[in-house]
Amino acid sequence: MEKIVVREKEEPPSAERSERSGSDNDEKPPSTGIAVQAINPAIQGHQQALSNSYLLKTPKSIKISIPPHHQGIVGKKTLEFKKKYFPGVTRFEWNDWRWQLKHRITSAAGLSRFMTLWDQEIEAMTGDGKQFPVSITPFYVSLIAGSMPDYPLRMSVVPTCSELVVSPLDRIDPLEEHHDSPCDGLVHRYPDRVLFLATDFCSTYCRYCTRSRIVGRDDHFMSTIDRWEKAVAYIEEHTEVRDVLISGGDPLTLSTERLEWLISRIRRIQHVEIIRMGTKAPVVLPQRITKQLCAMLKKYHPLLMSIHFTHPDELTPETVEACGRLADAGIPLGSQTVLLKGVNDSVDVMKKLMQGLLKARVKPYYLYQCDPVVGTSHFRTTVEKGIEIISGLQGHTTGYAVPTFVVDAPGGGGKIPVYANRVAGRQGSDLLLTNYEGKVYSYPDPEGRLGSM
Ligand code: SF4
Repeated sequence: MEKIVVREKEEPPSAERSERSGSDNDEKPPSTGIAVQAINPAIQGHQQALSNSYLLKTPKSIKISIPPHHQGIVGKKTLEFKKKYFPGVTRFEWNDWRWQLKHRITSAAGLSRFMTLWDQEIEAMTGDGKQFPVSITPFYVSLIAGSMPDYPLRMSVVPTCSELVVSPLDRIDPLEEHHDSPCDGLVHRYPDRVLFLATDFCSTYCRYCTRSRIVGRDDHFMSTIDRWEKAVAYIEEHTEVRDVLISGGDPLTLSTERLEWLISRIRRIQHVEIIRMGTKAPVVLPQRITKQLCAMLKKYHPLLMSIHFTHPDELTPETVEACGRLADAGIPLGSQTVLLKGVNDSVDVMKKLMQGLLKARVKPYYLYQCDPVVGTSHFRTTVEKGIEIISGLQGHTTGYAVPTFVVDAPGGGGKIPVYANRVAGRQGSDLLLTNYEGKVYSYPDPEGRLGSM
């Protein structure tokens, strides 16, 4: 019997890279065809679907199209959007993160193609008082297309005039990161760890961004090797730094080569034990989580990732697949969520998000009280709201699904966990505690003083 092998065609070497130009070729495009040669019996996966008789009729190389599942998953809603608004774009192009970056929607005119904009939104994007740039990937636009202005995902990325209101409590740099920056793009606040701001760029800008003073601004360009070298030199000199958090901006908007340069450089520092990354890419640009990226990241373990999620509707098939790919690369995944009025400030929404995250193999990590950043007062809830949400989760669902609620103290005090008070008092040698149902139980604690007046 004739032996058959199906293998991908070879691709030419990739060209010079530029992560924002769409010309970065760190990942090979899929071959437009598959060379089939009669030499080996191994036929795997989708290739098995081809009938042997068909192959045997074609002893020389033939071209076959790549089945859709080999071109990346596209959710139903997004697929319909793509067909309607980008009919000439192939699924391969759509699933190419560079194509997504190149076609970001950045203006009211661009957005109005996909939804009826509210006057408040148009004014925020076109008026003189414009605060913070707009950028949304076509993928994320597919999730908000045709929505109403109060749709949570839309509220999180499309500005309104509320953003132009500056409350007396607002601060440009509420966490005063600037004061703890020994060099440009590095924040050393806590004793054993630093924040490395690798870039000022994000594929999609959140309207409540804590670092809106830096990200998306043309006057900053943070991802230069020269600047990175200075920050790396600082880490090398400070042997107490055992943990480096690479964030930005979104570091996963950098090309894989640039990112690997940075990660490998940090990994070479002996006293750095762990590397963490902060990103929203799996949510707004899930196409970025390629096998090649994961293969690169897994070389630098222990490496952890915090993913920025806002709402359960962000748990699209694309995002869940991207998280699975990262998890399969051995990267522990945690979530970070900002509590936002009108977006996710209810127990039901938060429970759905946290439970969905666990299913997507992401451990809910932090729920943040919204920082008092300029132009975000309309998003801020009371601190009680956060406690109410955590109390509505704790005991009511899996403990793993309960994040830690924190207030990042304005003025540079760092993250302060805030909990519901479960101590109901003391009765003799018993400590009285309130459970998740509001019932009081006693615990024998004869030597304790907690709960005493
Ligand atoms: S992803 Fe993070 S850094 Fe980028 S705009 Fe959103 S909050 Fe800011």
